[in-house]
Formats: sequence, C-alpha cells, structure tokens
Amino acid sequence: MAKDFESVKAMVAALQPSYPVYCLRPEIITETAKRFLDLFPGRVLYAVKCNPHPEVLKALYNAGIRHFDTASLPEIAQVRESFGDAACYFMHPVKGRAVINTSARVYEIDTFVIDHMDELDKILKETGGAEGLTIYVRIKTPPAEGTLYHLAAKFGAGVTEAVAMLKEAQSRGCQVGVAFHVGSQCLTPGAYTTALQLVGEVLDQAKVQIAGLDVGGGFPAAYLGTNMPPLEDYVAAIEEGVKRLGLRRDCVLMCEPGRALVAHAISVVTQVQLRKGDQLYINDGIYGSLSETVDAGLRLPARLVRIGEDSRVPTCDFTLNGPTCDSLDVLPSPFSLPEDVREGDWIEIDRVGAYSNALATRFNGFHPETMVTVHDRAIMPSL
Ligand SMILES: *Cc1c(COP(=O)(O)O)cnc(C)c1O
Repeated sequence: MAKDFESVKAMVAALQPSYPVYCLRPEIITETAKRFLDLFPGRVLYAVKCNPHPEVLKALYNAGIRHFDTASLPEIAQVRESFGDAACYFMHPVKGRAVINTSARVYEIDTFVIDHMDELDKILKETGGAEGLTIYVRIKTPPAEGTLYHLAAKFGAGVTEAVAMLKEAQSRGCQVGVAFHVGSQCLTPGAYTTALQLVGEVLDQAKVQIAGLDVGGGFPAAYLGTNMPPLEDYVAAIEEGVKRLGLRRDCVLMCEPGRALVAHAISVVTQVQLRKGDQLYINDGIYGSLSETVDAGLRLPARLVRIGEDSRVPTCDFTLNGPTCDSLDVLPSPFSLPEDVREGDWIEIDRVGAYSNALATRFNGFHPETMVTVHDRAIMPSL
C-alpha cells in the first residue's frame, strides 16, 4: 500500500526525497470517474495502458469503474487478479496466438478487437469457437484536427474490409461490434461525429445488427494553454451520432478513456540538484515521467515546495534539465518559479497521471517508482 500524507508539503517534510515521488490524489480520481460514469450513456472502460499502477487501478475501482480496456496478458492478469468482478476486454487488434488462447481459457476473455480477417481466424481457432464471443471490428478514422496522436495510421480497417469482417464474423457465429479510436488528447468533439458517420456507412453496407459500439478513448485533459471543450460536448456529439445509427435497443455502447480519467490525479515531486543561473537540474526528465512534454508538447503546471517558510519573491522562467547524461533530456517549455529557487528545493509538477510512469525508462539508472497518496488541493482546479 502507498504511504498516505495529508499534503505534498507533509510528504516532503517527512521523506525529504532525493528521488522523484508520484503524489496520487484519489479524491480527484473519484470525482473524474464519477463524472464519466454519470455523463456517458454506456459502459466506461478504463484504458489500462495509460497508467497501470496498482494504486491508480484501485482508486478507479473504488470510484466505481468495473470495465477495463486491456491490450496484453500482463494487463489482463493484473486486472482480473486484483478485482474479482472486473470485466476485461481485449482491445489490441494484433495478438499472439498463445496470448489469445490464455486470455480466453485462463481469464475468460470473450471480447476481442480485430482489424484484419486473419486475426478472426486466429481468435476462432485459439478460443475454440464462436460461442459466446463478441468480435469488434476496428475501423480507421480520418485524422482529427487538434488530436495529439493519431493511432489510425497504425490500426483500423477501411470501410470495405470492415464490412467483409463483420459479415464473416457474424456468419461464423460471433456477436459483432464496431470500434474506433480517434487518437489521444482529442480537442474536437466533432472527431467523434465524423467517426460515427463512418460507422453508419459500414453498417449500411454490412447490414448486420451490432451487439456493441465502442467509441474508444481520446477525451482530453487540461494542460497549460489547452483550450478544452467540456466532457458534456463530447457526450452530446456521441449521443447525437449514435442516435442517427438506429442501433438495436440492447446494443452496448462503450468508451475507453485513459488520459481523461487519470491525468489530473497525479503530480510528481522532483528535487533541484543543482542551479546554474536559469538552468535547474532536477531528478526526473524526458526518459522518466515527462516524455509527453516533448512528444505531445504538453505544458504542465508546477510550483515550488520548500520545508518551512514559503518563497515570497517574484517568479521568472527556468529551464528544467532531466537527470540523464543525454543532452536531449531537457524539458522544452520553461517553467515559472520563484526567482530564489535553490539546490535542495522541490518542484511539484502536476497533471502527470497519464502516460508518465507508464512510459518511464530505466535509462542511465534513473527510474521513478515511489507513489504516495495525498489529500491537499492540486495546483490548478480540475473542472
Ligand atoms: C490508448 C488507447 C485508449 C486510451 O486513450 P486515451 O487517449 O488515453 O483516452 C483507448 N483505446 C485504445 C484502443 C487505445 O489504444
């Protein structure tokens, strides 16, 4: 179990950590999960890859999340062995045969995604038949403006192939569904409208009744300078688009948020190990928790944490350098901090709940791995 502290300041006073410390605010997870569960008119699956830390999964489970989007055997094993009544869905379109076999026979997975006909054969062979199986066909969606990562470049079938797969899966006795994923940190609700129109095209041609529709993840989090539409706008676009499809009444609607459920709930407390003018050398960087500051250009809120007296001097811009010997290990945007920041101070960097520890490497011997829970207010309000 993670150590529990009243606040980030209390954690720093107690541990005086020279290593990075993730601070999980479970109340934020509870609030965010509740919002999703209240607003989304269907099943909310947490995309485990975004942050698989046991404390994060536990907080989500405690907040009422019971469905999990999993993409590998270790993810499935972790969820099924942590929570007896949690449902896992195998949402990776490309799976090893032994992995399909084990997921079905050991972990009773009965829902799989495909984006190619050969994968259907693999699944039917390894699971031992279509009985009780639901096959989701993932379709390729066009690149949406303002989306950070467009995964459709790698996965997803075109309309013609998707139609063929749906018909084939149904004729072989499976229940069928359609899935898509617009890409991460999608800032335009219209991307879901466009994707759902494409689903309409596929269904018109396939003339199958689908048992499920999965609108994927991609719901954004608020970073500095992010102009983020509210979740209500996404839900409205999805409800509107789904209504036009005229689906069977018992068709299951699902979404798979990762980032939006967890990004706001974790900060990382780093320590300044040396100051050279406006250059600060800290103990976490782009090979640790902060790779998305480069890959996605995220700008993160931060504040100084000092034991005793708070700093009361004006702020100025500092460049944060990561701990590895690589000269690329520098955070691209400056951070505004009190101008008297000094060696030994701590800097809390917030909004790192998504794709942080999940992506951290062990490069050069640096690997953040301490997680605690705290209950003070975050640097910026969430909603
Ligand atoms: C990564 C992923 C998600 C989660 O995406 P977020 O942008 O974190 O919401 C959902 N579904 C699929 C298929 C994914 O690959």
